[in-house]
Amino acid sequence: MCGLVGIYGVPEAAKYTYFGLFALQHRGQEGAGIAVFNGKRIVEYKNLGLVSEAFNEKILQELAGDIAVGHVRYSTTGASVLQNVQPFCVKYSKKTLALAHNGNLVNAYALRCELEEEGHIFQTTLDSEVIIHLIVKYLKEGLVYAIAKTMKRIKGAYSVLLLCDDLLVAFRDPWGFRPLALGILNGGYALASETCAFDLLGAEYLRDVAPGEILVIDSNGPKSFLPFEEDPQPLSHCIFEFVYFARPDSFVFQKNVYLVRKNLGYNLFKECPLSADFVMPLPDSGTYAALGYSQASGLPLEFGVIRNHYIGRTFIQPSEKLRDLSVKMKLNPVKEFIRGKEVIVVDDSLVRGTTSKNRIRSIRLAGAKKIHFLISCPPLRYPCFFGIDFPQARELIASKHSVEEIRKFLDIDTLYYLSLEGLLDSVGELRDKVCLACFTGNYPLEVDFSFRKDITEI
Ligand code: AMP
Repeated sequence: MCGLVGIYGVPEAAKYTYFGLFALQHRGQEGAGIAVFNGKRIVEYKNLGLVSEAFNEKILQELAGDIAVGHVRYSTTGASVLQNVQPFCVKYSKKTLALAHNGNLVNAYALRCELEEEGHIFQTTLDSEVIIHLIVKYLKEGLVYAIAKTMKRIKGAYSVLLLCDDLLVAFRDPWGFRPLALGILNGGYALASETCAFDLLGAEYLRDVAPGEILVIDSNGPKSFLPFEEDPQPLSHCIFEFVYFARPDSFVFQKNVYLVRKNLGYNLFKECPLSADFVMPLPDSGTYAALGYSQASGLPLEFGVIRNHYIGRTFIQPSEKLRDLSVKMKLNPVKEFIRGKEVIVVDDSLVRGTTSKNRIRSIRLAGAKKIHFLISCPPLRYPCFFGIDFPQARELIASKHSVEEIRKFLDIDTLYYLSLEGLLDSVGELRDKVCLACFTGNYPLEVDFSFRKDITEI
């Protein structure tokens, strides 16, 4: 997964982009980059690590200009190396272009092979690089034509920001897999994956970039082009943005994430009303569903485990003998509170089941009498090809084990997953516009099950 920020017509655009990326840090922690148009050409800086680690004041000052795009990366295609950090910049025919992409293409490998046959030379192992090669290939007919033609060829999830010298362009796949919003900022414009970036920048949300739309911003303001007007695709917003990914203070797909997560908790209670001493989340991912469950049930909400917010990255991995240490580094149970209690523990999802097993074990060791574990989405049984980093099906615990088998593996008294209907009810009017493939295996597009994120690595 990744996060995007674009700024147009605002002095110190790189600094605004930096702070926007800072707000989107949860969407990718492997690397960050900013490209800015300095009046003559595009210059960029990118680095591995968190936004605050990748940049400093001096670097930002050197990125002078009032048009910029930025990216935070979490790899879903290509290795986690500096070369693959975006924006991806190229020079072509006296133009400089910089591209930032969120999402995963499902036909990138086939397109890359085709372009290589034609003599294109690739610099990275990113699926995103295919997009810029195609745009450049069609560019002599004009930028909007080239982007429209590229959009017809690439399949999958793409919310893209493109700087082409002094133009800022945003475009989004016709299925609308990943979010992208447009706002007004200090007389200029801002674009961001999530609206929480606008809140930090003081930008005012205008609207979402529509699925299938190309939005070109120049000195006359934004202009919209709709290459899929005659050929609209079924909307497939990623429901996992609501379940886990997006920040609760954001609106994605025009819906507030916090409220959806609380609805998930209400619906968990409707489907699985339990009595216990209290409800507790696994923070932060289970917090809002636990709040919803507590409010619906009348049971108290307690923070039975405490999160260390400063964990960041550690290069010293605890040995097998110290494996409890790695769990407690992030979450530590409040023993005085848990001892002898019957608790309802809420989390958003189970992926491999390994982290949860360790967390549940530490709650058990803290003396919980009974543990009921509620998950605020249905069992994840199928991999995602559209930008969420879910492992292959065989690594997803629910793809090969029944709920009862998982309950035994986790060593708990109750395991309950929210139903698909409960999940859909929680997103209200979006219920017919979401991608549920990770739960149902019904992919909105043809996918290649042999895909691996290192497919382009040599
Ligand atoms: P596990 O028990 O190993 O399946 O891990 C479950 C935890 O992983 C839950 O707390 C989720 O919030 C979290 N999680 C869900 N999806 C992802 C993801 N794509 N990347 C990292 N963590 C995730």
